[in-house]
Amino acid sequence: MLMPQRVDKTDVERIVSELEGYENEIKQQFDICGMDYEKVFELTRANDGYVKESTVATVIPNDNFTGVERLYICSEIIADKVNSLFDRIYHEEAFLKIAEIYIKYTLVHELVHIKQIHDGRLTKEEKEQGEQIDYYDRWYEKEAIEIAKEIVEQEGNFERNVVQKINNVQGINNEDRQRLIEMFLDAEGKIT
Ligand SMILES: [Zn+2]
Repeated sequence: MLMPQRVDKTDVERIVSELEGYENEIKQQFDICGMDYEKVFELTRANDGYVKESTVATVIPNDNFTGVERLYICSEIIADKVNSLFDRIYHEEAFLKIAEIYIKYTLVHELVHIKQIHDGRLTKEEKEQGEQIDYYDRWYEKEAIEIAKEIVEQEGNFERNVVQKINNVQGINNEDRQRLIEMFLDAEGKIT
């Protein structure tokens, strides 16, 4: 059956909690296990000044950037992004796997920022300077994008292709959809 697949806020939050082991592995890899933060799914404190409507996730450091207070995972926005970027992937398991990869990619990106803060490289001054320039010109964003890509893409062919689609503003066509499903089935060792 060709059923359009979708994830919602609740699905995203469930996947994030299922990925707690993964999050801890990356924290170990980054040597930032001592960094504690509260994970928040709601944009309740938008007046922090960092959260914008299109933000998928963001890290809120403490006042002097010696630690991190909160990690926002904007589940509703993530669901919207996954649904629009990967529309018409008519395969439930493949679609859920794509959502998981999107969330992993987002998590690693934010953990890179936490590492930058942990190492004293991303300071209040650096952040304020960064906000004067374009997102893609900020060294800490370039680094987070690059490392998140590297870590998630190394998991496999399917993961690499999903990450490439996440970064491709043109979206996906029917050929891409078919190829992604085939790659997913291939990776799972399933026969169609
Ligand atoms: Zn970032």
